[in-house]
Amino acid sequence: SVSLPKPPERRILTIANQKGGVGKTTSAVNLASALAVQGLTVLVIDLDPQGNASTALGVAHHSGVPSSYELLLGEVTAAEAIQKSPHNDRLFCIPATIDLAGAEIELVSMVAREGRLKGALSEKALGEVDADFILIDCPPSLGLLTVNAMVAAKEVLIPIQCEYYALEGVGQLLRNIELVQAHLNPDLHVSTVLLTMYDGRTKLADQVAEEVRNHFGDAVLRAVIPRSVKVSEAPGYGMTVLDYDPGSRGAMSYLDAGRELAARTAHITKQEQR
Ligand code: ADP
Ligand code: MG
Repeated sequence: SVSLPKPPERRILTIANQKGGVGKTTSAVNLASALAVQGLTVLVIDLDPQGNASTALGVAHHSGVPSSYELLLGEVTAAEAIQKSPHNDRLFCIPATIDLAGAEIELVSMVAREGRLKGALSEKALGEVDADFILIDCPPSLGLLTVNAMVAAKEVLIPIQCEYYALEGVGQLLRNIELVQAHLNPDLHVSTVLLTMYDGRTKLADQVAEEVRNHFGDAVLRAVIPRSVKVSEAPGYGMTVLDYDPGSRGAMSYLDAGRELAARTAHITKQEQR
């Protein structure tokens, strides 16, 4: 397979949208897999107590497994919590266990509560895993877990479902991003928007896609993820769609999206240097 260029520095993306069911987790694991299949080293951090990303990546996440919860509390290092996904030697995951469900409240009284994930992801903390990309899968809320993800990352990736009310709540998400930018992380920006669950047979899907492109311009990837049964079946086997059915349309579209995401490195770096 083709090798993607390594980014000049590690890229950390937060995958956020407080709406549930828009494809955050599906996009986190499948983009991660797409980048790993094409030669990059990728770490997924599961920050949703549901642990769906951990399930899809086939890593253990029962209570007691070192997880993002202990990481936020400072009880383990990232290296201690990282597991290798069984299907790809370059794909890693820090899982989420059900313990994370209480973290939102426990974090409130902690010192530097918004910066705990960032603090846990220093260069040294990752140990031997020299990740080119870190993708953080957020829960469907704008609480402290998502804020931690936004402080740890430079880029936000917003998945948008090509359905009714697609842009509902996006205004609130953008205002939250601006607040984090103003007070906690000046580097944060929406680098990427991904259209998910696109159904080419409906006029609505095209209307939504056009509306999103008008709104976000170049941030929107050209690759669009189709609605596909294979994509939704894969997690049931502890797999990403790239392992479950590499030739499927879903797998191909995530490969395309991954390629586009990786190719933007030079562009983004150039812009920042100006
Ligand atoms: P979120 O993490 O935003 O809550 P998920 O990624 O869990 O959303 O997706 C919500 C549901 O939609 C899941 O059941 C998932 O399997 C399904 N799904 C996501 N993307 C697709 C797709 N491209 N085609 C079909 N089903 C999808
Ligand atoms: Mg999810």
